[in-house]
Formats: sequence, C-alpha cells, structure tokens
Amino acid sequence: SLLGLTGLRRRQVGRLSGGEMQRVAIASALALRTRVLALDEPTSQLDPQSAEELLDTLARLNRELGLTVVLSEHRLERVVGYATHMIYLGGDGLAPVSGPARQVLPHIPLVPPVVELGRVLGWQPLPLTVEEGLPLARRSPLLATAVAERSSGEGPGVRPGVVALLVRDLHVAYADRPALRGIDLAVHEGEVVALMGRNGAGKTTLLRAVAGLARVQQGEVTVGGRSIAGRSVADICRSVGYLPQNPNALLFADTVREEILITLRNHGLQAHPPIPPAALLERLGLSELADAYPRDLSAGERQRVALAAIAATHPALLLLDEPTRGLDYCAKEALLKLLQEWRDDGMAILLVTHDVELVARVADRVILLEEGKIRVDGSPASVLGDSPAFAPQMARLFPGRGWLTVEDVLMAGRVTGSADRC
Ligand code: ATP
Repeated sequence: SLLGLTGLRRRQVGRLSGGEMQRVAIASALALRTRVLALDEPTSQLDPQSAEELLDTLARLNRELGLTVVLSEHRLERVVGYATHMIYLGGDGLAPVSGPARQVLPHIPLVPPVVELGRVLGWQPLPLTVEEGLPLARRSPLLATAVAERSSGEGPGVRPGVVALLVRDLHVAYADRPALRGIDLAVHEGEVVALMGRNGAGKTTLLRAVAGLARVQQGEVTVGGRSIAGRSVADICRSVGYLPQNPNALLFADTVREEILITLRNHGLQAHPPIPPAALLERLGLSELADAYPRDLSAGERQRVALAAIAATHPALLLLDEPTRGLDYCAKEALLKLLQEWRDDGMAILLVTHDVELVARVADRVILLEEGKIRVDGSPASVLGDSPAFAPQMARLFPGRGWLTVEDVLMAGRVTGSADRC
C-alpha cells in the first residue's frame, strides 16, 4: 500500500505499465528489509506525483528506521531536496565531487531550474528547492513585470498545419480491461505534442495503437491521411518512427552504426539517407561509440542509439515513449535541440514523458490522459501552469505568471544571463 500497488495485487507483472512495474520492483527491494538500499534511477518511469510519494517514503524510512539509501538520478530537481549527501561523477577520469548538495551543485554544469535561476539572479543563499526559492521569488523585482510575457510554448511553436496524425474515438482493451476509452486527437506537421498522465493512464497503449502494435477495438487511426487499419506494422512504420519505452527491443545489430544502416536499408534509403548517419550520430553524442556493441552500452546511450535507428529515415510522425530516461542533462539538451529542429522541418512529434521540465521547454501542446481518456488538451502554460501535479519549477516559483522555464522568467524580467547549459 506504501507504493500504491494494492489494486494491482492480482495482476501479472509482465502486463503492467512501465511505471507500475517500476513500483513493484522497488516494493520487492523494500520487502527485503535490508539496511542499505541501492536504487538506480528509481523514479525514471514514475509520474511526478508517484515519484514524490516514493521519495517521501524513502525519506521516512531513512529517518525512522535508519535505512541508508544510495540513489542515482539525472533529474536532480526531483531528489536534491531529499539528499543528505551528494556525489557527482563528472566522467572522463575526473575526480568525484562529494559533500552536501549545496557544496556539490556549484561543480555541476547543469542544475535544476530553480538553482539555475538563483545563480543568474545572484540569490543568496542559493535555493536548492522551490520551497527554498519561494521567499526569494516573492521579494523579487521580477514580479513587477507584465504577466502575459512568456517565450516558450506559444508564439512560433503553435502553427497548426496539415494533420499528420488523426485519432477518432479510439478504444483499446487488454482482455476485458479497457486501456483507452474514446480518444480523439490530432497532431499536426511541425508540432510537438506532449502526452502526460499518471502511471497506467494509457499513454504507451496510445503510441502502440498508432504504430499498429495494439489491437484497435473501435475507432480509427489515420497517419498522413491514410488509415492504418489492415496494414502491417512494417508498412505503417514507413511514415512513423516509434521509440518504445524499452529501447532494447530495437537493438539487435553488432555495432551502433549498423543499427542506423539496417533501418536505412529496410526503407530502401541507403543510397540517399535523409539524414547522413555520421551527422545523426554526432548530434546524439554517439560518434565515438559508432563501432561499439549496442547492448553493452549504458541505458542512456542505448536510448540514443534506438532513437538514431528510428529517426534515420526522418519520419513524418515521430512517437517517443520516455525518450529522456537515463539521459544526463547534456544529452537531454542535445535531444531537445534535435526535436526542435525536426519540428521546424515539419515533423509531427508525439512525446510521452513524465519530465515536466522537458515539456515546459519543448512542447507546443500538452495532453493529459486520465484512465484512458483525454482530460485536458491545451497550451503548456494553460495545462501545466496551474497543475498541482505537473507544474514545472518556475510555475511553482511564480504562480499565475504563465512562466514555465528559466528563459521565460529572464525574458519577462529583461534579465540577461546565461541559460547556456552545455
Ligand atoms: P506508465 O506511465 O506507467 O508507462 P502508461 O500511461 O503508459 O503508464 P499503459 O502502459 O498504456 O500506461 O497501460 C495502461 C493500462 O493498461 C494499465 O492499467 C496497465 O496495467 C494495462 N496494461 C498495459 N499493458 C498490458 C498488457 N499487456 N496486458 C494487460 N494489461 C496491460
């Protein structure tokens, strides 16, 4: 019950959603009642609310039972407020930096948005969490600036063009349990749509249905004006790139380069690749790994190889399921730029993610799914801004302003400062 699994007690583990499965794994580790718990990105597939509940639980077990928790995490904004001690491994043979978060954070190139803003504005003491930043934000002269100004999410991003994906009254069920209950959705060329929601809401099922991998019970899916009904997955994937939650499912070649070449050959594009493979590897920070065996790589590297393999054809519609899982801030930054470029080239991108900071920076529209139905569909500011569960750090720091990112805040305050991250 601590991990919200009571209702799933009788379910087969292999048939749970990614986040549900992650919670089962954590529960089984906790059940061992060891004195030390080592967790490798335990919140990577959890929705923000479940992540917070898990971290609260771990903090309580630490306080009350003396449990030692060693936890690796890329999404610092989620964990920094809980950590009594932090170790930063810079890689490339650099010595680790170790100490209380306040001492370690200055050595980390990329930090949570509230820390980044605090650095630019010279806030002292530097806030590590939104809670610590709130008193400083309330006294900030930035609050005198106009409410409506913001840079991301609206403006050039919103330009509904041709409909790339149309979903009408879509119903999907597993056995007799409904997973999608009447989804209506359109994604346009040149648009990044973020699909968010609690674990088990049906996000992965929706992507799978569009890629032809889940059986459609009722309703219709049209990609590029053509219905997917009766078509093979291979045929659908001529115009759809689908990155599943588990990238291992896509990796089977002997080298990273070969993964891309296989995709190109399968699509008959080897002579004229839409994106030169070397350039794609470079953009994803994989050049030095071109000859490596994909399955030996780290989770974040495998994630990027899988993305390279499905994006090599420059598909008209890109479906991404948790693409930032396992990515450090720099890799995430590179991905973000790539998505923006592809979007500007006219690609339609449907992005499933629990990463609210990523959504704040890249999405043109946000859809919240709840128990297989669309609850809200709107601009990032309108959907995330006031949401208790999904608001990014800047929206919590400056409620009611419509600011979602550090850039929004700095632009509204006409502050020049670095938001240069990598
Ligand atoms: P998460 O954020 O945890 O990845 P999600 O929103 O992607 O979740 P889905 O994986 O689409 O959720 O699952 C939707 C519902 O369908 C959940 O209740 C899940 O337990 C159930 N489900 C998923 N896959 C199967 C399956 N193969 N068989 C039976 N039920 C399934």
